[in-house]
Amino acid sequence: MTKRGFRLNGITVVPGKGLGKAFFVGRAIEQASTVSISRQDVGDQIMRFNEIREKAKGDYRKLLEKAESESSLDASILNIYEHILDDPAFIGQVVETISTKLYDLETSIRLVSSDFIKRFNSAGTSYFRERSGDMVEICEKLIAYVDLDEGRMKEFIEPVVLVVSRTFTPSDILKYNKDMIQAVITTSGGKTSHAAILARSYSIPVVSGISNLSSYIHPGDVVYVDADKGVVQVRPSSSLTGKIGKAPATDAQLEALRKKWDRPVYTRDGIHIEVLANISLPEDVDQATRYCADGIGLVRTEYLLSNRNTFPSEDAQFEYYTTIFQKMKGKHSIVRLMDIGGDKIPEFFDMPFEQNPFMGWRAIRIFLERKEMFKEQLRALIRAGKKHNYSIMVPMVTTLEEWLQAKDVIAETASEMNVTVPQLGVLFEVPLAILEMDTFMKAIDFASIGTNDLIQYLSAADRNNAKVNYLYNPIEPAFLKIIRIAIETANSHGKPVSICGEMAGNPYHTLLLTGLGLRKFSVVPRNIPIVKEIISHINYAEASENVSHAEAIISTNEMQTWLKNLNKRMLGDTLTKLPVTADV
Ligand code: PEP
Ligand code: MG
Repeated sequence: MTKRGFRLNGITVVPGKGLGKAFFVGRAIEQASTVSISRQDVGDQIMRFNEIREKAKGDYRKLLEKAESESSLDASILNIYEHILDDPAFIGQVVETISTKLYDLETSIRLVSSDFIKRFNSAGTSYFRERSGDMVEICEKLIAYVDLDEGRMKEFIEPVVLVVSRTFTPSDILKYNKDMIQAVITTSGGKTSHAAILARSYSIPVVSGISNLSSYIHPGDVVYVDADKGVVQVRPSSSLTGKIGKAPATDAQLEALRKKWDRPVYTRDGIHIEVLANISLPEDVDQATRYCADGIGLVRTEYLLSNRNTFPSEDAQFEYYTTIFQKMKGKHSIVRLMDIGGDKIPEFFDMPFEQNPFMGWRAIRIFLERKEMFKEQLRALIRAGKKHNYSIMVPMVTTLEEWLQAKDVIAETASEMNVTVPQLGVLFEVPLAILEMDTFMKAIDFASIGTNDLIQYLSAADRNNAKVNYLYNPIEPAFLKIIRIAIETANSHGKPVSICGEMAGNPYHTLLLTGLGLRKFSVVPRNIPIVKEIISHINYAEASENVSHAEAIISTNEMQTWLKNLNKRMLGDTLTKLPVTADV
């Protein structure tokens, strides 16, 4: 008899609904599925086990050296990891599981690790109980290498709900075939975390803020996620599952809007507003053209480095940029240099341990130290950009000096290639830079505002942390004042300015941002026709006049009510008729 179902409450990160079987990621040992191999593959699997053990040991040794020089980590723990990886009992059991039970390497590592963990947990001393946590770490590390070595994407053959018992990261989605991922449940992860941004662009609902997931959900449990309400139903009743399914009206409506908006959009009083696409993966370009992007406002090129164990060659990068430019057929694209760091650290990148990665060595800060790596990206980009309509944007700029140095490197690369320097812009996402925007104006060709990072840095609320999500609020009065000043500064200098943070793609903010003077929105492709539809109902002059009254509002709650009323008053029932879910 199946156990009765129950409900868990979390926080909406990406709205929507999904039903599937629970699949645990990130805590490798919790996954129960087993994969068999044939006898002739045994030798190969054992050889690979030894290879990945050496790689893992190499990683820990590097960390150990760093820990010893920086006193940043407890070095003794790293010695223990190495010890376990060399433990003849552990090695022997994995080898035996592969050769006698004929399980593949991944399954064998999971089974043996689980067995060790059970034994550690049942031991009487706290020393051994602590070792069970070490075993989880080692198991995850080894399995990450199994995946990486195979360079494979895991193919689900049935709909799954990903269960992530820690902070949700982009690779949790990138490792799998996305079409089978119906929803994600995670312990931590905010609405604008990079993983949430990816999930949103693939319409994967996400609920966050549920701890101890493995004590409620077991691998293979049927789970229904209603992310609109932030609710997870574990083992739902058949009467509920029978009713679940995508609302066909939503797709049909979106399809109709998509066809309608294969053209530029103007406000009711004739102001042209551009609605551009944010893209991350090569296949997103097709989404951008499908959803009628007026151009691309942000290419997150660092995703080129996902699931790889080496830096992509100049030629591979050249091909990627060429594909984008060709598919955009003359429409303009803004390509952002790799924003490495924070929660986006490529497997192969030798990143020092950081206490606060989002405040650490990231983007332009890495660029200015690892110029050769970025020059390779620049060469590929500039070569691909010949005869195409594109610009280059630099992320995480803090000071003008930093920006001038970056510009010099870009100019030097272009001159070495005998090519004129393309248009260059700054992604304003660090508070200091946005407050100094006026000073930057003479030195840039265009600006974009990265509200995702800007909000987290201004409010000291980690964008990945669901617990402090209540402080992470794009309609905070002081934040809106900064956005207004930023747009006005760029406009007064005649420099194009866009917003490419998630705020721009939220249909509940379209009217507000138009009223603040924004004329370039860069959003997830799926939302382009929705944002265009809303813009077509706006009178620009009236929106400016009405939004200017927001200056007098001093509290977030008041702003929220005011915005709801404004949307209703100026847009009537437009928002309620569109395929969007409440997400103010
Ligand atoms: C931002 O910070 O708003 C932005 C667009 O960059 P990312 O989300 O990639 O950090
Ligand atoms: Mg950013």
